Amino acid sequence: MTTGSGLQRVAVFGATGSIGASALDVIARHPGRLQASVLAAGSQVEALLDLCQRHCPRHAVIAREELYSALRDGLRERGLDTEAHAGTGALDQLAAGDACDTVVAAIVGAAGLASTLAAARAGKRLLLANKESLVLAGELMTQAADGAGADIVPIDSEHNAIFQCLRSRQAKDDVRRVVLTASGGPFRGRRRAELEGVTPEQAVAHPKWSMGPKISVDSATLMNKGLELIEAHHLFGLSGDRLGVLVHPQSLVHSLVEFVDGSTLAQLGLPDMRTALAVGLGWPDRIDSGVAGLDLLAQGRLDFEAPDMDAFPCLRLACEALDAGGTAPAVLNAANEVAVSAFLQGKIRFLSIPALVEDALAALPAAPADSLEALLDADARARRITETTIAGHAARA
Ligand code: NAD
Ligand code: MG
Repeated sequence: MTTGSGLQRVAVFGATGSIGASALDVIARHPGRLQASVLAAGSQVEALLDLCQRHCPRHAVIAREELYSALRDGLRERGLDTEAHAGTGALDQLAAGDACDTVVAAIVGAAGLASTLAAARAGKRLLLANKESLVLAGELMTQAADGAGADIVPIDSEHNAIFQCLRSRQAKDDVRRVVLTASGGPFRGRRRAELEGVTPEQAVAHPKWSMGPKISVDSATLMNKGLELIEAHHLFGLSGDRLGVLVHPQSLVHSLVEFVDGSTLAQLGLPDMRTALAVGLGWPDRIDSGVAGLDLLAQGRLDFEAPDMDAFPCLRLACEALDAGGTAPAVLNAANEVAVSAFLQGKIRFLSIPALVEDALAALPAAPADSLEALLDADARARRITETTIAGHAARA
């Protein structure tokens, strides 16, 4: 897990994002124990250079090949001896190679699949934030990790909570059911008709969590909770009928595990992803995360309510995709990624997101998902169908 010196070398993929920043914050608190040895980003060269200056990694990777010289020259100009790399092949090689013991998989979307799989196959400790890769290819991912002895620690507050309650990634027969909590997002309590004209700015303004734009929109549609049900199914080996969702607006109870004896264990804490990252980086030890403890007296109350499946059909669609299995979750995820991107660009309305996902699922009925090729093919087809529908809308508008 670590080098002989006890230093754990950590690759942070998606270093310039929200999870990346939280991971680097925790790593910097433990200089004798943790070291950021690889930093990777999609296309933000300047932000990546700033992080290299602060954390002095051995390697820096920019996913977009054409930005290689900008990264290399920027490192040189700043007098850093960090080695520059570009392209997705470099990401996969560094995830699997000697430069790291642990990979924080925090690239957003299916773009993170290949490097996450590479880390799992190489037996790395995998701090898995990139939930889309699990939704797309969860079985292959967990099989690869189990086959190579890679420890996966989920970096999603709910799944990290469940992991802490179980102290394992395997839910045994003594678990009756697991309940994921949901904040309800910025539009909690609104009816469907009241969601007609909501803007991207309103959708990304999450009441409790500060996150990247894609997951913020997913939280507003409740697709995020749907993706998380599929994620929990793969991570903990639980069928859909042993998984539930409870809306909890304060976002202090991060999820609950109910056992056969009637006990329920929950994990509580302030909504700050550094706690989950510290669990993953320190496991099985507990290490400082910089997050304050929970003052329940100051917080006052904990409320719970049922999710509104009518106003937020994405949650229903995800439950259906989980039940259908095979390629259905891959189709759901791909159509959603395309729709959310179009919504953020102002090309479609908020309620078109579930409509487009539903159309893609209807056009591409679930087929067996026995290989990565079959899943990637379903992903590509769902993207094409959704892009074509959006282009048709734009042409008519
Ligand atoms: P973000 O948008 O803030 O950051 C995304 C990161 O991915 C950036 O560093 C970006 O450069 C990189 N990236 C984007 N496209 C890429 C590509 N094609 N190749 C390589 N790198 C690319 O997103 P985030 O909020 O940090 O979320 C990251 C992941 O973690 C998502 O899968 C999200 O669902 C999950 N997650 C996030 C939170 C949170 O609190 N932010 C909580 C739970 C799970
Ligand atoms: Mg979550």
